[in-house]
Amino acid sequence: MIVDLKSITDVPRRFDFVLDPDWWQDDDNIGQVLGLDGTLTCRINIVRAGVRYIIDGGLLGAFFSRCDRCLETYRRELDLNFRLFISSNYPEEAEGEVELSEDDLSVQFIKGDEVELNDVIKEQIYLSLPIKSLCRTDCAGLCPVCGTDLNKAKCQCQRGKGHIGFGKLKALILNGEQ
Ligand SMILES: [Zn+2]
Ligand SMILES: [Zn+2]
Repeated sequence: MIVDLKSITDVPRRFDFVLDPDWWQDDDNIGQVLGLDGTLTCRINIVRAGVRYIIDGGLLGAFFSRCDRCLETYRRELDLNFRLFISSNYPEEAEGEVELSEDDLSVQFIKGDEVELNDVIKEQIYLSLPIKSLCRTDCAGLCPVCGTDLNKAKCQCQRGKGHIGFGKLKALILNGEQ
């Protein structure tokens, strides 16, 4: 959904809409977000504040990501609120050298007077991902030698090797079983 910022005043405007499951296309080929699981409910509020615009948004839904450790697809809940400051007055266009103030650093400058909310939402979904996207915190990952998914099967390569920490963990588990 494209919003013409010229139509936004200091009276907040609300944009509520629902994106279909097939809305997400992995056209960036980043592969971190594979698609939506069901619809995505978007509630966006935009208001003008001087030369800037404040976008307050809420996203509710779920999507599929790929685990960085075992490479399996898994589902992530999405329930996030975000706030963005945007401005179409890029400082470069101002006269002379302009130093970006502290405030400006958190402002996203856009060209023109239109903001594509779909792009904003897409970016927020990417930002919602942790540095390591894991199917579960204790994902065992793939064997670096033979590539076996260690969540599903054991392989022979691991025996007698492995990190000391894992050895201790293994001992704990074995004790627990007695
Ligand atoms: Zn995993
Ligand atoms: Zn192996």
